[in-house]
Order: sequence, then structure tokens, then C-alpha cells
Amino acid sequence: MKNPKQKTVTKPALRDGSNAMRRPRPVRPYALYTPAEVHEIFRRFSVQRPEPKGELEHVNAFTLLVAVVLSAQATDAGVNKATRALFAAADTPQKMRDLGEERVGDHIRTIGLWRGKAKNVIALSEALLRDHGAEVPGDRDALVKLPGVGRKTANVVLNMAFGQPTMAVDTHIFRIGNRLGLAPGKTPEQVEEGLVRIIPAEYMGHAHHWLILHGRYVCKARKPECTLCVIADICKAAEKTNAIPAPLVEIGTVPEVVAEDI
Ligand code: SF4
Repeated sequence: MKNPKQKTVTKPALRDGSNAMRRPRPVRPYALYTPAEVHEIFRRFSVQRPEPKGELEHVNAFTLLVAVVLSAQATDAGVNKATRALFAAADTPQKMRDLGEERVGDHIRTIGLWRGKAKNVIALSEALLRDHGAEVPGDRDALVKLPGVGRKTANVVLNMAFGQPTMAVDTHIFRIGNRLGLAPGKTPEQVEEGLVRIIPAEYMGHAHHWLILHGRYVCKARKPECTLCVIADICKAAEKTNAIPAPLVEIGTVPEVVAEDI
């Protein structure tokens, strides 16, 4: 959604008046927040959730990778329901390949696009065995070469399994980046780039989870719960319905609100 405060900036013409420089050049929209405001937003998230966790169940880097591949266009709860039995049967690339596409498919039949995903899970297990000594590589270029693994999946795995300060832009983070004007962008890559640029380094390790959880439980797609929001006074979203921040307490000491997924 276009933020009304965003401007299109044109570069001035060169002194020699060359036409090339007179043409309007749209520039990437900028964040609406000062560095101090961004710092305060993430400081509050860190007080609210000191140790945020992803909600996809896994037992190692390989099962995390498989769970994230399966989660495309599916809810975490739906994926967890299917993967409990799958990971009990196969928690390594070797065991997954031995299980075979048909039996993997039997486990994940309740997940959308399961046929293609079963094929990818077997193909990526084979690629890990063949090219990476059965280990999940901690390198984005290697990860995105695996079947069914895109940039978002790679960023989740790098962040959660390897502790790298990546930003995997899902539907919630894409919405928050644009709605709040924190990192406006037309594509997930633009929002990712904007967030990585403005989030203080000390908060990058957990920022991905804080934003997902904020989007899932508070800044929901259809109706943001602004009265429950700890950054309501800082937020500059046009949809904001309240400017008084909710009490800043650690989650778990207040009643949980209902999540909105996908
Ligand atoms: S005040 Fe409302 S719109 Fe702004 S971040 Fe909070 S929930 Fe979202």
C-alpha cells in the first residue's frame, strides 16, 4: 500500500543540461522513522519477548529446512501436525531419502501442494547427501540451489540454525514493513533490504521473529489490535486506531491474544 507521506524525488539536471539527468528518477521509498525511533521499537520488542522462538517444530537444521519448505502457503500449526510423525521417522537426509517420496507424501497429505513438496523434500535430501556431506550448508548461495529452497527459506534457516542476522520476509513482515512505513517496498527483497539497513545490529538476531510475532498476534492483516500494541505511540501507520502504547511487559505475564496466520 502506498504511504501518503512517501515522496518521489527527482535528481537535478546537470549543469550542461543533458536530457538524461532531467528525466524523473523514482527512488526507493524511505523509512519514516528516525534511528532513535527504530531503536526504541526493537528495544520494546526485546522486553516483550526476550527469547523469541519460531513456531515451526524441528529437531535439527535439516528438519528446520524441511519444515520451512513445507510451510509455503500453509500455517505453522498445519505443518507441525504433519511433521511430528514425519520427523520421528526421518530426521536426517539419509533417512528421508530412504523413506521415499510416496511415504513422505503420505505424511504431508494435509498440507497444501503436498505432491510437489514431497518431491522437493526427497530431491533436497539427495542434494545434501551428494553435495554437502549430509549437512545443511550455512551459506545462502548454496541453500538457494537446493530444490524447493528460495531466498526466504534460506534466510529463515540461516537465522534460526546458524544465528546469522538475516531477515526472511514473510506475509507478516511484508505487511508491517509497508503498513508502518518502516521499510516500504513493492517486493519482499526491497522490504528485506530496507529492514536490514535500519534495524540496529544488536537487534538483528531476533528481529525476524519479533516482526512475525507482532504481525501474527497484534498488527494483524485485517484489523490491527492497536490497543494491545507496545509501539502504538511511535507507529505512523495510516490504519492506526490508538496512540497509547500497551503496558510493556514480557509476553506470558499477560493473557495471550489470538493469532492470525497467513
Ligand atoms: S499501532 Fe496498530 S498499526 Fe501500528 S504497529 Fe501497532 S497494531 Fe500495527
